[in-house]
Amino acid sequence: MSGAVIAIDGPAGSGKSTVARAVANALGWTFLDTGAMYRAVTVEALARGIELSDEEAVARLADSLVITNSPRVCVDGRDVQDDLRTERVNLAVSTVAANPAVRRVMVERQREFAQNQAVGTVVEGRDITTVVFPHATLKVYLTASLEQRAMRRGEEGAHSLSRRDVADTTREASPLRRAPDAHVIDTTSRPVDEVVQEIIECLKNLNSI
Ligand code: C5P
Repeated sequence: MSGAVIAIDGPAGSGKSTVARAVANALGWTFLDTGAMYRAVTVEALARGIELSDEEAVARLADSLVITNSPRVCVDGRDVQDDLRTERVNLAVSTVAANPAVRRVMVERQREFAQNQAVGTVVEGRDITTVVFPHATLKVYLTASLEQRAMRRGEEGAHSLSRRDVADTTREASPLRRAPDAHVIDTTSRPVDEVVQEIIECLKNLNSI
């Protein structure tokens, strides 16, 4: 299944990471959390005191960083996993992700990552079905009520979450959108296993056509 991609998009707290990881485990495929990549760049920009509005400086930084993710997210060999989901990063990440030059670097790396796997890859994010892998083997869009999403994100809270929703869906560079050919699943009140099974069924149906 080398080169095969299941692309999953959706807003924060829709269950993307949990579901994508479980689908990858069930299939024996690799999992890629692209939000963690934008978060890693944000952690590093904040640590170095780089002005986030300086698009060129942030893009230069993104281009220079070596980001790895197995099993923990590291930047230039330094473990940043525990810094990825702080409130400071939650507040800043949408600005970094709206930077088109940063996105160009990240998209290229995400495509390269999937190409280099000996097995298929389950990739989740905001622009995976629309920009990064528009010809993915299977496209999925996860959604859930704001209340449920805020509950899942715990400390982040509904206010910060909806602020990020607005930033991610209204930005000019690759906004979060439902691809017309994505399989839509509302994960509100649905157990993870059930959602995972639905995605695997979709994949099987594709393969049997
Ligand atoms: O998925 P997660 O909440 O960790 O993503 C953090 C942020 O990274 C999102 O709010 C969004 O601004 C950005 N992001 C993006 N494109 C992706 C993945 C994440 O713009 N493919």
